[in-house]
Formats: sequence, C-alpha cells, structure tokens
Amino acid sequence: MQRSATAIRVWQSLGLIATAAVVVTSFVVAGGLSPLFAGIGFVVFSAAALLAIRNVQVTPSSMPASQTAVEQPGRSQLQAILDALPDPVIALNSAGVVIALNSRAQAIAPALRLQEPVWLMLRMPAFIEAVRRAIATGQAQHAEFSERVPVELWHEVHVIPFSLPVGLQGSSNLLLLTFHDLTTHRRVERMRADFVANASHELRTPLAALTGFIDTLQGPARDDPAARERFLNIMQAQASRMARLIDDLLSLSRIELSEHINPQTPTELGPIIRQVLDALQNLTREREIEVTVVAPDEPLIVRGDRDELISLFENLVENALKYGASGKRVDIRLESAPGQDAGSTEAKVSVRDYGPGIAPEHLPRLTERFYRVDVGQSRAEGGTGLGLALVKHILNRHRGRLTIASTLGSGSTFTVFLPLIQSPPPGPPDNSVGSMT
Ligand code: ADP
Repeated sequence: MQRSATAIRVWQSLGLIATAAVVVTSFVVAGGLSPLFAGIGFVVFSAAALLAIRNVQVTPSSMPASQTAVEQPGRSQLQAILDALPDPVIALNSAGVVIALNSRAQAIAPALRLQEPVWLMLRMPAFIEAVRRAIATGQAQHAEFSERVPVELWHEVHVIPFSLPVGLQGSSNLLLLTFHDLTTHRRVERMRADFVANASHELRTPLAALTGFIDTLQGPARDDPAARERFLNIMQAQASRMARLIDDLLSLSRIELSEHINPQTPTELGPIIRQVLDALQNLTREREIEVTVVAPDEPLIVRGDRDELISLFENLVENALKYGASGKRVDIRLESAPGQDAGSTEAKVSVRDYGPGIAPEHLPRLTERFYRVDVGQSRAEGGTGLGLALVKHILNRHRGRLTIASTLGSGSTFTVFLPLIQSPPPGPPDNSVGSMT
C-alpha cells in the first residue's frame, strides 16, 4: 500500500512538470517571453509544485480513514505482534473488518479472510453481538466461540478495543480478538459428569437389588426359610459387588492423585507374578486353566510400587482367566527388550489367553472407565469395568505402557512395558519364579 502511495505522488509530480513545460513553451512560441525568463520560470514552478506534493498526505477516497492509518506503517508491526502471540488473535478495524490475524486464528477459523467483515465469516450470534457491543461502547467484551465439525472445539473470545498510535497521523481505533482454548477444560468437565453418572448407576443397581430383597424378606418370604437362604446369598453377592466397586473407585482416585509421582523403590517383577498367581489359584483351579510362566534367569527390576504392580498384574491375569477361560490356557512371559529411547531397556510382561478374543473396534476403548465389551458377562464375572482403567493409571505413574493385541476366535495378549533399572541394586536378587507350569 505504501508503494502505491509513492507511485501516485510521482505521477502527480510528472503531471505538474509537464503542465509547466507546456505553459512556458506556449508563452515563448507566442513571442511574449524571452527563453531565459521562460527557463527560470519553468524551474521555479516545478520546484514549488514538487515541494507542495511532498507535504500532501495521499488518502484514496475509497479507503476508510482508520484502515488507511493502520496501513502505514502500523499494519506490518501489528501483524508481527500477532504472529508472536501464543494464542489465536485477530485484529479488526472500527468497521469490524479483519486487518490482521495470526496463523493460529486462521487454523481455528479457516473461513477468515483479510479485508472482509468478521461477521460475514464467523456467523455465531453471541460472538457477533460481542464485537458489535465492543465497537458501540468502546468497552471490552467476551463471548463463547465453539465449533462442532470436524472436531469439537471451545474457545472463550475476548474482544478488546484499543488504539494503535500511527506515526504523526494520530491514532486508529481497533479491536483485538483473543481466543482462549477451553476445549480440554470442557472435555474434562464432561468426563467428570459421565463418571459420576456411571458410578452412581453402577452403585444403584446392586443397591436396588438389596432393597428389593429386604422388602421381600420382611413381607412375602418372612416365613420361608428356603427362600430366605437363597435371597441372603444373592444379597451377599450384591453387597460384595458394591464393596468391590467402592474399592476400585478409591484405588483409582488414589492412583490418579499420585500419578505425577514416579515410584522409586527397586522392585523385582518375578516375585510379583508368583504372588499374583498364588492369589488366583482358586480361580485357576475352578476354571481348569493351565497357566505357564516363562521368565529369564536374570531378575527384571523396575522402579515401582509393589502393591500397585500386584494390582496391575492381578487385573490382567484375572481377566485372562475369566474372559479367556474357554481357551483353557494362559501364558505369561517375562523378558527384557530394547526400550523406545536409544540405549534403554524395558521389562516386557505379556499375558496371553486363548479365549474368544476382542473385536478390533473395542480395543482403543478398553482402558476407559466402565467400558466393557459385554456388560452382562462382566457383571456375571464380578467385574466393575474399572480394572483396565486402573492398569492404565498405574502404568502412567510407573512411566510404563500397555499394548493389547487380539484376534477374534484366537484370544488376546495384554503386554506391559516398564523401564528397567540398568544396574540391579547390591544384594542377592529374589529370582524365585524361573519357569513353571
Ligand atoms: P471388568 O471389571 O469388567 O473386568 P476391565 O476394565 O478389567 O473391567 O475390562 C474391561 C472389559 O474388557 C471387560 O469387561 C471385558 O469385556 C474386556 N476384557 C478384558 N480382558 C479381556 C480378555 N482377556 N479377553 C476378552 N475380553 C477382555
């Protein structure tokens, strides 16, 4: 824009000089003026015309005054400031026309174009109203800005009127629109609401069963010893389910609270697996499942919290015994493997069952709280839907990770990776697992 202003000035100067030349020549040709005086007159006239033009501000009538003032040299400075800001920012002139925006703003609102009124491109009533109010009152406003497609996004927009000083020409009134990302906050809010709804639903179901049986025992089954025995057994199962749910919820919130603290105690994985298998002996026997364990000779030592690691592997092995029972076999393999970072090593523990497997569409959601492939089966197995969520959070705290591979009809493999301590601490390691069937 500055370039075109200079061009206009040059053309104006040339026009005046040409006019002076034509006037002076016509006087000479008419014979009324000597060539010497004509030359002096031409030089004086041209110099005066050039000086006059230098002092004239070029303002094309098609441009609004505020926009023109920002063009020289403020617009490029304004753009540089917007580019340096970490949030999406748009600058509007006092007519609501976009005069600058940074790439972050362009990313959240691809429809935005320079030199177009913002309300033609972002048609959100609350947002437009905030811009209009800021223009009308000169006061800062804020509004919510949300997108539904292609992904849900929420932003809080602050509309801030301000004046940009521009050279000697005074100042121009602008609006700065800054966008504060609320998307993560909104998602967490929604997850929390879903979680409370799910937890209350899970607790209400056994509670309703208990209340129903208490009513029956107080009324129609009061004098029926056989029914009383049966109902008391069911009530006990429902009460245990509530207790399990509360235990899992408490464990989950305790682990979440300390998720940022990395446990430091050197802990050997072999004895942990042995303890888990001992605790699940009854289930293994009851379902007639053969469990094999393969472990290396050297101990696999990680920094960990023993109780949490026991809970982690108990969940995985118990799931394999419950949901993969039809395969009649569960293989547990411990080994060391190269880590994701160059030069690091990881402990790799896989729990493989030969049951019905899990359809691929469920795999990414299995570690969500209360997510089950088959709610009925999970409840029948005494599941709470929180086991794998617990596994995920324990692993986060231990800087580990979980992979799940499954093929329908051939079973599932849940593999845990944990960073290994490079040099085992002094003292004889407890390498009690070895290999057992
Ligand atoms: P639950 O308390 O229901 O067992 P989890 O979070 O431990 O909850 O597991 C979530 C769901 O994942 C289970 O309900 C089950 O549908 C599925 N699942 C977990 N492990 C296996 C497995 N080894 N084979 C088949 N399905 C499994």
